[in-house]
Amino acid sequence: MIVLENINKTYINGSPLHVLKGIDLNIEQGDFVSIMGASGSGKSTLLNILGILDNYDTGDYFLNGKLIKNLSESKAAEYRNRMIGFIFQSFNLISFKNAMENVALPLYYQNISRKKRNSIAMEYLDRLGLKDWATHLPNQLSGGQKQRVAIARALISNPQIILADEPTGALDSVTSSEVMKILSEVNRQGMTMIIVTHEAEVSAHTNRIIHLKDGVIG
Ligand code: ADP
Ligand code: MG
Repeated sequence: MIVLENINKTYINGSPLHVLKGIDLNIEQGDFVSIMGASGSGKSTLLNILGILDNYDTGDYFLNGKLIKNLSESKAAEYRNRMIGFIFQSFNLISFKNAMENVALPLYYQNISRKKRNSIAMEYLDRLGLKDWATHLPNQLSGGQKQRVAIARALISNPQIILADEPTGALDSVTSSEVMKILSEVNRQGMTMIIVTHEAEVSAHTNRIIHLKDGVIG
């Protein structure tokens, strides 16, 4: 499903920083993978490339057999919206929209009516145990609830892959474990999942651990 061949990435603002140094990686459909490494090791850079949020310099990235390289912004957005769901450490919810509206947002870009969007969003909130919180704004929710809203939002467009960057980084250990159980369950239902973390308790939930050190897979 995901094939990376000799991916290199250098940031050039100030002195050049060679962040990814020849990454080869193969991820199959249904995999549950964690990417571990110290802060600054290039985890987010790698995840952003996988999510077509950022470009790489050399090498090849194939997603479902398609070469993801030098895409136009509109093509990149189309692939992203169709194939990838994102979960972030800081939840990235829209503060003036309630839980239901946040979950429904990806469907807005698929020309689905508001009524239909909201009714589908309610199904996903229900699935995440948040039906009673649908009309609450993000600042009226706990960290764990906010991340469950974000998970529902990632799932609603029925992506093929979920990419999560430190999804438990802002949560206490009990809530963190609850969120990982939810992600495990989503994976058991067939979703390919890639999680960036520096916490061993988090990676222990996954089926495969990839160690990134100084831009190289160890
Ligand atoms: P991680 O997620 O493992 O902490 P990152 O991929 O965020 O690591 O960053 C790897 C290195 O690249 C760090 O040294 C970071 O400061 C640097 N870096 C990240 N993003 C940029 C950027 N947009 N411009 C320049 N340097 C960056
Ligand atoms: Mg990071």
